[in-house]
Amino acid sequence: MKIKVNKKILAKNEDFAVANRKFFKKQGLFCINMISSPGSGKTTILTETIKLLKNKIRIGVIEGDLQTEIDAERIRKTGAQAYQIETQGACHLNAEQITNALSKLDLEKLDIIVIENVGNLVCPADFDLGEEKRVFVLSTAEGDDKCAKYPQSFAKADILLLNKIDLTKYLDFDIARVKKDAMKLNKNLKIFEISAKTLEGMDNWLNWLLKSSKKK
Ligand code: MG
Ligand code: ZN
Repeated sequence: MKIKVNKKILAKNEDFAVANRKFFKKQGLFCINMISSPGSGKTTILTETIKLLKNKIRIGVIEGDLQTEIDAERIRKTGAQAYQIETQGACHLNAEQITNALSKLDLEKLDIIVIENVGNLVCPADFDLGEEKRVFVLSTAEGDDKCAKYPQSFAKADILLLNKIDLTKYLDFDIARVKKDAMKLNKNLKIFEISAKTLEGMDNWLNWLLKSSKKK
């Protein structure tokens, strides 16, 4: 019975995801869905990305959190548009919420929409939001065993951002092992090692983002 209900929920989600994807294409918007556990640094990656690309491309953000506007406010401080979805306990975003959020942004003034999903490595992986690319953020502070524990998150991503690489000197985080394990799960995965704090490695990520969004 449980499986039936889940199938129904996912089928409904897929209808909205297909519509969102069509809409993004029509509008010439490049949409990415960012997934990670809480505290991996998604919002910091976004504020730094927005600041560094300010004169090159216009980024708007849809924030997903259980509660609070904290992350949307951090994004707005950079001057970018942000809309906060408060899920009131739901542990992932669904495509219908994105459809609704799109009407809250001035899309004519945007080139890229970033969806910052609820921090959770389990169900966000199952919910297509209509994004063109999926970005999975793993920070070095979380440990290097995540490929084995959450294979879906790696298998369904296009990009892996290994964040907080400035901390590796204090941690037992084996970057080579994670890269090898991740590529085993997804041979098309592109991996960028970054630190949104020191800005180390950010260039590669920014170049990818610029290039991909202009292919539209
Ligand atoms: Mg955040
Ligand atoms: Zn969930």
